Amino acid sequence: MWRKNFILDLLFPKFCLGCQKEGDYLCEDCKATLEVSSFHQKYSTGNLADLYFAVSYQKPLIKNLIQKFKYQPFVKELAKTLSSLIIDHFQLMEKLPDFSEFFLIPIPLEKKKLKQRGFNQTEEIAKELLRFLNIQILSNVLIKIKETLPQVELNDEERKENIKGAFCCRDREKVRGRKILLIDDVYTTGSTLEEAAKVLREAGAKEVLGIVVARG
Ligand SMILES: [Zn+2]
Repeated sequence: MWRKNFILDLLFPKFCLGCQKEGDYLCEDCKATLEVSSFHQKYSTGNLADLYFAVSYQKPLIKNLIQKFKYQPFVKELAKTLSSLIIDHFQLMEKLPDFSEFFLIPIPLEKKKLKQRGFNQTEEIAKELLRFLNIQILSNVLIKIKETLPQVELNDEERKENIKGAFCCRDREKVRGRKILLIDDVYTTGSTLEEAAKVLREAGAKEVLGIVVARG
């Protein structure tokens, strides 16, 4: 396996998106400038009982990393880089939060977008996290049933309206009485995570927390 990766790296070398140094998408020096948070402060928005985030979304480098992941040419491998920030955040905390009773649910994409991109970026982050947290993922339980506009182009009120009714819980049995960790890439106004948490709570989830790479 290493041999294949070795050849791939020779053919398609990776460059740091911060300083263009060859090796990886984010070198250790540039990673340090992102200042991964070492503490957690409880943050609730109603249905979302708490939120964990690794870095601030203000830094141009993190915006660049997330945009390369979400928009063309869709660098799927950035899932590893971005989830490593979340893992670093947990490891820097004085005490690792106990997520042993939780199940991961990635924020879904609508079918059309999934087809276009070829992968769901939040699912790729979730796959990296489940190995570290040693918990299970619930795939295809929360689905996106409404096409929405990109949230970045909208104001607070428009975001809420845009995302309203966008999600549906397809399998209430899998959610009922369970604790859920919702995974998304960025948290800005929080309307996406709050709407998804509302749907899961209505489906019987006991508690819903959010984990994101960056918070605006
Ligand atoms: Zn760098």
